[in-house]
Amino acid sequence: MTEPQPLFPATGPVPCAEHPDTETRLRCSRCGKPICPRCAVRTPVGMRCPDCAGTRAISKANPTRTLVAAGGGLVVATLAGLGWGFFPDWQFYWALLLGFGVVETMVRLLNVQRGQNPRGVDLQAIAIVIVLYGMVLSRAVIMQRLGVDLEMLGELRPVVQRALYLRPIPDLLFALLPILIAWVRFR
Ligand SMILES: [Zn+2]
Ligand SMILES: [Zn+2]
Repeated sequence: MTEPQPLFPATGPVPCAEHPDTETRLRCSRCGKPICPRCAVRTPVGMRCPDCAGTRAISKANPTRTLVAAGGGLVVATLAGLGWGFFPDWQFYWALLLGFGVVETMVRLLNVQRGQNPRGVDLQAIAIVIVLYGMVLSRAVIMQRLGVDLEMLGELRPVVQRALYLRPIPDLLFALLPILIAWVRFR
């Protein structure tokens, strides 16, 4: 009976996964990939490879896929924004749908390797912009339905704010929800 060969031998220097010319004993604390001082990223939970530390920008590594993911997110944000605009009383559910719908669609379309979690500031930024678009769209729909134009926003503020679901509490809290979801998901 032969011992199964471990994927990465536990001792001895091995070539860095990023820089094959560099021998290293350092390993990513999450996936165990050999990393060298040049590509290792110091995190609170030890040294990690760029993928596990989330420092490799997916938008740079795979711009086409990122674009497709952003497109899918935009479709979901449009649907959620329209729904929110027509049925604003259900804003809690629209907020959840907008947040989770956009990020999960993006994750699906990013189609990263199994077990890997897409993350990065680029994805956070893209997702937040898409979510904001969905919310602006919902308010535009409400304004359209009520016949309110931008000039009226200055007058009768409390009434207009209420009508447009722009009160700090609870409306802006609901608006923060999808932004938070987008930020946390790709962190
Ligand atoms: Zn790793
Ligand atoms: Zn390296």
